[in-house]
Amino acid sequence: MYIGDLHIHSHYSRATSKDCTLESLDIHARRKGIQLLGTGDFTHPAWRKEMSEKLICKEEGIYILKEDPTKGKMLPWDQGQTHFVISGEISSIYKKDGKVRKVHSLILLPSIEDGEVLSKKLETVGNLNSDGRPILGLSCHDLLEITLDVCPKAIYVPAHIWTPHFSLFGAFSGFDTVEECFGDLAPYIHAMETGLSSDPPMNWRISSLDRYQLISNSDAHSPSKLGREANLFDTEMSYTGLYDAIQYGKGLEGTIEFFPEEGKYHYDGHRKCHLCLSPVQTQGYKGICPVCGKKLTIGVSHRVEQLADREEGFVKEKSRPFESLIPLQEIITASIGLSPSSKKGVAQYEEMLEKLGTEFDILRKVPLEDIRKGFGNLLSEGIRRLRMGEVKRSAGFDGEYGSIELFEPWERSQLEGQLDFFAGLGISIQEEKQKMSETIGREHKHKEEKGKNKELEERSMPIQLNERQKEAATIVSRTISIIAGPGTGKTKTLVSRILHLLKERKVPSTEITALTFTNQAAKELEERLKNDLGKKGRISRMQIGTFHSICLQFLQDQGMEFSIVEEWEALEIAEKVLEEVGIKRKASSFLKDVSRRKAGEKEGKELPEEAFQAYHRVLMERKLLDFDDLLLTTLSLLQEDKQGKIKRKQFSYLLVDEFQDINQVQYKLIKMWNQGGKELFVIGDPDQAIYGFRGSHGACFEKLQEDFTNLIRISLVDNYRSTPQILSAALPLISNNKGIERRMEAVRKEGPLLRLVETKSFQSEASFVAREISRLIGGLDMLDAQDKGGEREASLLPSFSDIGILYRTHRQGDVLEKALKKEGIPYIVTGRDDFLTEKNVR
Ligand SMILES: [Zn+2]
Ligand SMILES: [Zn+2]
Ligand SMILES: [Zn+2]
Repeated sequence: MYIGDLHIHSHYSRATSKDCTLESLDIHARRKGIQLLGTGDFTHPAWRKEMSEKLICKEEGIYILKEDPTKGKMLPWDQGQTHFVISGEISSIYKKDGKVRKVHSLILLPSIEDGEVLSKKLETVGNLNSDGRPILGLSCHDLLEITLDVCPKAIYVPAHIWTPHFSLFGAFSGFDTVEECFGDLAPYIHAMETGLSSDPPMNWRISSLDRYQLISNSDAHSPSKLGREANLFDTEMSYTGLYDAIQYGKGLEGTIEFFPEEGKYHYDGHRKCHLCLSPVQTQGYKGICPVCGKKLTIGVSHRVEQLADREEGFVKEKSRPFESLIPLQEIITASIGLSPSSKKGVAQYEEMLEKLGTEFDILRKVPLEDIRKGFGNLLSEGIRRLRMGEVKRSAGFDGEYGSIELFEPWERSQLEGQLDFFAGLGISIQEEKQKMSETIGREHKHKEEKGKNKELEERSMPIQLNERQKEAATIVSRTISIIAGPGTGKTKTLVSRILHLLKERKVPSTEITALTFTNQAAKELEERLKNDLGKKGRISRMQIGTFHSICLQFLQDQGMEFSIVEEWEALEIAEKVLEEVGIKRKASSFLKDVSRRKAGEKEGKELPEEAFQAYHRVLMERKLLDFDDLLLTTLSLLQEDKQGKIKRKQFSYLLVDEFQDINQVQYKLIKMWNQGGKELFVIGDPDQAIYGFRGSHGACFEKLQEDFTNLIRISLVDNYRSTPQILSAALPLISNNKGIERRMEAVRKEGPLLRLVETKSFQSEASFVAREISRLIGGLDMLDAQDKGGEREASLLPSFSDIGILYRTHRQGDVLEKALKKEGIPYIVTGRDDFLTEKNVR
């Protein structure tokens, strides 16, 4: 069995490395573990001259260098010189059926002499001197005809058939069928080169390709890229052996593939909108970007979809196996963070080659235990994951490269410890994995049906989301509003959305702002993000904070000089102002109404304009802003900025937590900040509004719907907190609120029944509560105890600290307290202070 890479280029081709010489190619192929290499560029006279001088024929049609370029300095496991077969690529650019066609073709020949003769013929058509991969105005049909005329044993393979710009099926200038391209000569085509942008499963979906052999080559432009894709052959090392394998599949054992997702045009999307879409998703959006409204850029996968007559996931019968690999240097980077260009990275790579074998051996065969012993847990685990296909793929789109990840950042540090632990116990990781997979076997099986990719996608999400949460975290729209009732995983969803933007959609953290209502919530959000992204998280440059803290930062960024008025100072100013104006009123209540007016809400008591203005004047004189001023000043700055001089990029992706609690000023701020931005995402529960919006709770959700007509709304309905009994009692009640229908489903199992007791007055309600507590506790005195708790086990009785009473108003509380005192029940009242004035709420 040997590995062959047949499509490469010499240093005579454009945009290739100077290092593409026969000697260097020989050495690099040996290090990779490739035994047979195409020479590339046979049409180029100078390259052919080099070949004639340096190569000798070893077997029929197979060449080696006359002199071994390693000069004896071979790696310990080296199996000897690389074999070459004559190959080249031609770019045909021509017009057919009124359309310009651009197609690349790979040609393999049985000898240098055949290369000479074919080149002489092609010279009459175009210039072969300027580029190792010449451009000819010759149709594919005519090129094939000439080639077979000159050399009946030539192999002609359409190259990288899905590449958008230069290929047989290319979206821009290709064909829909082989026949359309080659006409009557179509039967002479026997194989297709799938190219970096597709893998066999993508090709299996087109039934008309069933009759072709699928081969894969690196199309390397530098020796280090050799073998990015390659073929496994089990034939004799001769041109005839190779011919039978490529043309008839005899001895073609399989291919080594790149992950097609890595290519720049795998999926559809918009680079600017950070939007990558699968073909199905694109169809869902009718080809129009849901963010900016323009036409989406179509990728390779979509082109396959257009020509496919089979479903995604179709497995061709008797298909050849293939392995998806990434270069060892990339694994070193992904596992232990050493870059391939760094000294340490190079040293690590060299050492692995020296001790373990060729690169392909290391990637495919060397026992993991050997890798672990010599080079540590992370590298062996990285290679294990690659071999098992347990990688996370993010597809490239619209010119943006895709990526293959082996580890999540948070995983690496965790894994290192865990694997050390197993090794310390003498348990092999394999055994441990086995055990783990047995325990989760059932879950696994279920997931397997959904396809490997999906499973990996889910595995890579550290937090499991239910269907609706997942939709909320990933949906794309200009404006998204999420209704998240109590216990439905609101914060989890918000965190997942931000992670999705950062990791999947690659939105720069500098374009994201998350608004919370308390500093506490901001801190929590930051912690959860850090947890997932690893220590050196990408969130340091992301804005997370309350309206006040973000406005403060915003005003400072604009170069404004001011201080925030302290509470005592505000009270002092208020007292003075009230005295001057001659109004008898408590300063604190006056300030509350000032705040309400500034927030655009109804005032509690009438607020005399004179006093309001006077207070405001004093603040201005002292260059002071109160909390409301922070918001108002920011808003007016933004509103005055008609030319858009103020940068709003960091608000491009604006996420608002506890949206039900925003007031009108905050609502306007959100709109101004996000003006010209990409996405606005709000989440909250209209039924939990503690601040009024225009006096009616949760109305901001409706206002948003009016202002953004194409808004998408999702309601999270799975409640993880309460029992079905509680929900079924609460829902009818809460359904009296205005707005959409309330729906919630309990995830928890049945709980104790709920009892509804109706009483005539506060007083009788309170005394019922007191008596009920006495009953629960098993009686408060001897007499009671015999009566009420006698037949119950003492350890089953609740104690006072197990019982809580909730009440709505302070008046109700007072009555309750009286009743409890009367029964002699000890109690603690909590939250008596108006918590809205507390600092952490602000
Ligand atoms: Zn090409
Ligand atoms: Zn090429
Ligand atoms: Zn767009």
